[in-house]
Amino acid sequence: MDLRENIAQVRAGIDAAARAAGRDPAAVELLAATKTQSSDTIRAAVAAGVTLCGENRVQELTAHIADRAYDGARVHFIGHLQTNKVKYVVGQVELIHSVSSEKLLRAIDAQAAKLGVLQDILLEINLAGEASKSGFPPPEALPTARLAASLGHVRLRGLMCIPPAAAAPGENLHYFETLRQLAVDIRQEMLDNNIDMDVLSMGMSGDYPDAVAAGSTCIRVGSALFGPRLPNAPG
Ligand SMILES: *Cc1c(COP(=O)(O)O)cnc(C)c1O
Repeated sequence: MDLRENIAQVRAGIDAAARAAGRDPAAVELLAATKTQSSDTIRAAVAAGVTLCGENRVQELTAHIADRAYDGARVHFIGHLQTNKVKYVVGQVELIHSVSSEKLLRAIDAQAAKLGVLQDILLEINLAGEASKSGFPPPEALPTARLAASLGHVRLRGLMCIPPAAAAPGENLHYFETLRQLAVDIRQEMLDNNIDMDVLSMGMSGDYPDAVAAGSTCIRVGSALFGPRLPNAPG
């Protein structure tokens, strides 16, 4: 595995997709999804040029912070988060992508209030209605955005989705376009709230060119950087 080479390849793929769509490549950030990776691998990725890491599991996040594995990079939380674990995440990461229930939203706000911080968040949207995945059904996005805007210690920055794995290029384009339109609609409906929703976290190793074409601002890539994960690895 040559991390530097993999980073360059994914970055080139993002840049090409952005240019083809008439977008500024600099408007699309590459997040390295580091689930199941060791602290040494994360350190190597940061040394090779990764500037943003995304962690799925609270236990891994806590261990890697203790190891100072992310030093030199920013850290986001992108995985399923249980309400009773928010205390390990709030204030530790720049952005939580995976706010998937009202209960979790309120728990994050309460913990941020306790710490006296403002926690940036995204709402995770379950576009395909998959029972196996978390996230708000699209019709709940606007009311939940209004709720977030009414809470004092979270700042809603945008939306995130994890569509079904794409079998072919183009297959997930409609999901990404739907998420982008949902963000546009929410912004329009909430002009009075002065919210600054400019983040669209969408696109993974298998479908990121389509996500970039549809307006993604943050691509979350794991296997294209680190190689395939073990089939039974958590995550
Ligand atoms: C694992 C994971 C990714 C990266 O997946 P790859 O297919 O390996 O690129 C992105 N987002 C989330 C939420 C993940 O759990």
